[in-house]
Amino acid sequence: MKYNEISHFSHPQHTLTLDYTETPFKCDGCKEVGIGSHYRCSFCDFDLHTHCAIPSLSIHHPFYTKCSFQFFSRPPGNTPRYCNACEKDVTGFVYHCKSCGFDLHPCCAKLPMVLDDGETNLYLYRKVRAPCHKCGRKGRSWSYRSSCKEYNLHVACVREMLVENWHELYFGYGKGIKKLENRIPSLKNTLQTPHKRRKGK
Ligand SMILES: [Zn+2]
Ligand SMILES: [Zn+2]
Ligand SMILES: [Zn+2]
Ligand SMILES: [Zn+2]
Ligand SMILES: [Zn+2]
Repeated sequence: MKYNEISHFSHPQHTLTLDYTETPFKCDGCKEVGIGSHYRCSFCDFDLHTHCAIPSLSIHHPFYTKCSFQFFSRPPGNTPRYCNACEKDVTGFVYHCKSCGFDLHPCCAKLPMVLDDGETNLYLYRKVRAPCHKCGRKGRSWSYRSSCKEYNLHVACVREMLVENWHELYFGYGKGIKKLENRIPSLKNTLQTPHKRRKGK
């Protein structure tokens, strides 16, 4: 095998090759969306996040200092599980803490602590009180918040923005300035202004 190829237990029939895409893909390991570097079988259109292709047996996360998360290729147990980071269903690869029952998608466990929309930095928080500027809901999921506190975005809503606005990332920036995984579309263009007035009748 070449240096940029791996064999993976979830796709034993072919080797996977390290690839880079500026269009979002769906990870066949954790079933979540990804962008940028990933491992791919082009015969089968099979894609894995880099973190899903090369998982750690166990990880720790700064938000859950007492937890030890172990990698599972299927969610353990028979009850439906959801990710403590993005609050979406867990249907594939997962990091699971046995003592607390917490779950993290591998891509959520490895979320960057800082995102950049080209002008504003957004920082990852475990809890944010203010409503999300994309969906308007509060919810318990992790959120990104700008240092000015004007923008709050659920991690799942950031992922939706990537899918909806990836072309802006692709065409809107000079290539190779920053890692694509740490970028989000410009907040100015994609979000309502925080204090928008209601339209009267
Ligand atoms: Zn994945
Ligand atoms: Zn294949
Ligand atoms: Zn735990
Ligand atoms: Zn998640
Ligand atoms: Zn949201």
